[in-house]
Parts: sequence; structure tokens; C-alpha cells
Amino acid sequence: MIIVLHKGLSDIEIEKVCSDVEQAGYQPKIIRGVEEVVLACVGDEQSHSSLEALTWLPEVERVLPVQKKYKLVSRDFKPEDSTFLVHHTPFGGKNFSTIAGPCSIESLDQCRKTAEMLKNCGINTFRGGAFKPRTSPYAFQGLAEEGLKILAKIKEEFDMGIVTEVLGVEHIDATAEVADMIQIGARNCQNYHLLEKVAKAGTPVLLKRGLATTIDEWLLAAEYIIYHGTNEVMLCERGIRTYETATRFTLDVAAIAVALRESHLPIIVDPSHPAGHVNYVQPLARAGIAAGAHGMIVETHPCPSKAVSDAAQQIAVDKFSGFYDDLRPWIDLRKML
Ligand code: PEP
Ligand code: MN
Repeated sequence: MIIVLHKGLSDIEIEKVCSDVEQAGYQPKIIRGVEEVVLACVGDEQSHSSLEALTWLPEVERVLPVQKKYKLVSRDFKPEDSTFLVHHTPFGGKNFSTIAGPCSIESLDQCRKTAEMLKNCGINTFRGGAFKPRTSPYAFQGLAEEGLKILAKIKEEFDMGIVTEVLGVEHIDATAEVADMIQIGARNCQNYHLLEKVAKAGTPVLLKRGLATTIDEWLLAAEYIIYHGTNEVMLCERGIRTYETATRFTLDVAAIAVALRESHLPIIVDPSHPAGHVNYVQPLARAGIAAGAHGMIVETHPCPSKAVSDAAQQIAVDKFSGFYDDLRPWIDLRKML
């Protein structure tokens, strides 16, 4: 950590701050500039208490951390890409893998029609929410346990991996029985209690970036999951809230590039939720793939005009293979990165 001292301090005052730094377990090194004196404090910022509290000393102007707060998710800790299987499908590294399915689980018939089409496209990982985080309490909240039963049937009939969201700790056990990967939605990215409990279930976790979380905060949320017991964590950039209203969220393409550089974890793009409208899903998918995503998660529905949630952004099942075929050259290029 770096401590910037106020100008014009006496040597005695500087020594006083140094002794506080030593007491906190760090070695202070005094650096005297032309006008300013700063203390470079050497010590492990991850295992020692932060020096941030020294901001309160009258001699101190600012305290600046120099180390990143995350460790287990970082490439400094593990330089090579992490890869893992979701059911039989590999994610991460040189793979590009697609997860697709409806926003909400509505019926067995809806899911069967979707799964059949996806299998024909060579996609083996099915998504769909049984527990839905809805902005309004009056909106459809999901079929809950009934939805999990439908997902279990799809898994059995089509031999597909299942990705589905949990909203609360009370549903983790039932969800883990059917899910091959548990989704933590954007609104729960910083629900640390939920992250801890999901990590203990041992199922791989898909961690969506929060609507207003910085990349650092998102990586620290992933750090929680690994710290509490699950190494198999996949990041998902799904757009952030900005002042723009033409799309539902703003896909932060740069976040994919940053996460790839900072972390060994697989990262996928969700082009559906930032698009908010089917017209923009294809270009956003291309952008995410070109930025280096290891895969994507995309919403599709047999009859989007009847969908109970996110209707405008879901690709019609009979249009999906065209959408996917158009992306293949981009996916092939990504695999060569
Ligand atoms: C979803 O995947 O349907 C969903 C609710 O996503 P997000 O948490 O990214 O909004
Ligand atoms: Mn959705």
C-alpha cells in the first residue's frame, strides 16, 4: 500500500506514521519527493488488515492499495486457462460452447420443442429459469419446483446439460439435483451469502455480472465462490446499466477482454439481455465472440410472441439455426485466438 502524507510534516510526525504502519504488520519505506513524502508499505495486503484506516491520521492525505484484492481467480495465481465440463460439454480454453433455451420454463412442450431444435444444431446445454427474478412482483415469477421437474425431464430425454438460476439459498439443494451448472443472476452477483452457499453445493456456477458491478467487484464475487469451495466458475458478461436506453443494457465488450486477461476462468457472452430486442442479438453475439468469449448463452422460444418473460429478445426456435449458422465463421475465428 502507498500512503501519501500531507506536505510540511516534521520528521517526528513522519516517524509516528511509520510506527503505526509497523504495528499493522507492514514495513514502511520512506520516499522523499521534491514536495511530497510517501510511504511505500511492504506486506501482504491479502493476509494483513488493510492500512485504509490510517486515512484517519491527521498526517495522512491518502492511502492507495497497489495489489489486486482477488487472488484465486487471477492469472497470477493460475496462468493457464481453466476448463471444465458441464454435463459432457467442455467450457473454457480453446473451446467455444453455446448454452441456449427459453428465458422462463413455461411448459414441457415448450422445452421439448426448444431442446429438439438445439440438439439438431449440435448444442448440448439447455438454459431456462424455474425461479425468475422479476422487476415487478406482479410479473410471472417462474414455475419454481414444477419448472425443475420439467428441466429434469429434458435432461433425461435429450441428454443435455442444464443451466438454471437460483434466487435463494432455500432452493439450492433442489436446483443442484437437476442443474449441471447453477446460474447466479445479475441481481444476485453481490449477494455474498448466496454465493457462499452455492459454492458449498459443489455444482459448477455461472456468475453473471451485476447491472452495476465493476469488473473488480465481479471478479471478487467469483473469488467468493472459489474461496468457499467450487473451482468451476464461469463468468458471464450480460450488459451493464448506462444512460443509454436504445438497448436494454450496454454490452461491455471490453469487460470480456479484461476478464480474459485478468482471470483464468472461462467467460461467456449473453447477447440477449443487453439487446432487449431480437434485432440486436446477432450483432452483440458477434461482438462478444470477437472480443474473445469462450461461449455464449442465448434465449430462444418456440413462440416468442407468447413468451411470459423477455418476449422481445428471444429468437424464435424456427429462426435459431439460421442465427447460429451465421455465427459459425466468427466462432471458428475465435477458436484460433
Ligand atoms: C436470465 O438469464 O433470464 C436472467 C434473468 O438474466 P440476468 O440475471 O442476466 O438478468
Ligand atoms: Mn431472460
